[in-house]
Amino acid sequence: MTNAMTRDNLAQIRETIKTTALACGRNPLGIQLVAVSKRFPSERIKEAMAAGQLLFGENYLQEAQGKISELGPGPRFHFIGHLQSNKAKVAAEIFQMIETIDRAKLALALERHLAALNRGMDGLIQVNIGREPQKSGVLPEECATLLEELLPLTHLRIRGLMCIPPFAADPEQSRPHFSKLRKLALELQARNLLPQGRPPELSMGMSDDYPVAIQEGATLIRIGTSIFGSRPPTISKP
Ligand SMILES: *Cc1c(COP(=O)(O)O)cnc(C)c1O
Repeated sequence: MTNAMTRDNLAQIRETIKTTALACGRNPLGIQLVAVSKRFPSERIKEAMAAGQLLFGENYLQEAQGKISELGPGPRFHFIGHLQSNKAKVAAEIFQMIETIDRAKLALALERHLAALNRGMDGLIQVNIGREPQKSGVLPEECATLLEELLPLTHLRIRGLMCIPPFAADPEQSRPHFSKLRKLALELQARNLLPQGRPPELSMGMSDDYPVAIQEGATLIRIGTSIFGSRPPTISKP
């Protein structure tokens, strides 16, 4: 029964991605859905995989490590939580992308471990777009300095920006934050601080506001609740 629910939820989200993108003149293929599976056991990830979803987001390293080794090859994972530099080795081994790089120390630690593994990995800079004191991420005006410092890295490739705007009951309140993130990314790209030749990656939008994020240029949307239902307080095995 949950199987069918997960499948229906995914189908509905894919349809919303498509119609929203087409309505604002975007190619739906330019938007990747990251299914946020945090606190759900790997059985739930398998359900989503059976429905064709192969990209997932996790924000607790140890939990992700367990699930990724249980699941084996097939699914890809983005890290979307706070990462300590002393956990960079494991992160460098198991993820396809770290979306939450917020300091040079972490990026340099990842680079060192990736070099040892002879592995490339994509990264995004997490921007504290709403300037909230309790939130991680660099302030918009700090992005250029951080990116300059990371330009020499050869294994960790910074592809764009990620944000979690302030909580808002009305998704329209996220719009100015999303728009600001997009403008910032384009500005950084024009200054040669982000890769040329294709639009920078913009990871923005969650269950409640992803259509707005798509209208404002999101290339990655991170959706948990609308796919898997409300999260259990801690990871549980059936
Ligand atoms: C949990 C989480 C999400 C998913 O949130 P939902 O509201 O459940 O879609 C997205 N991004 C980050 C960084 C998260 O931690």
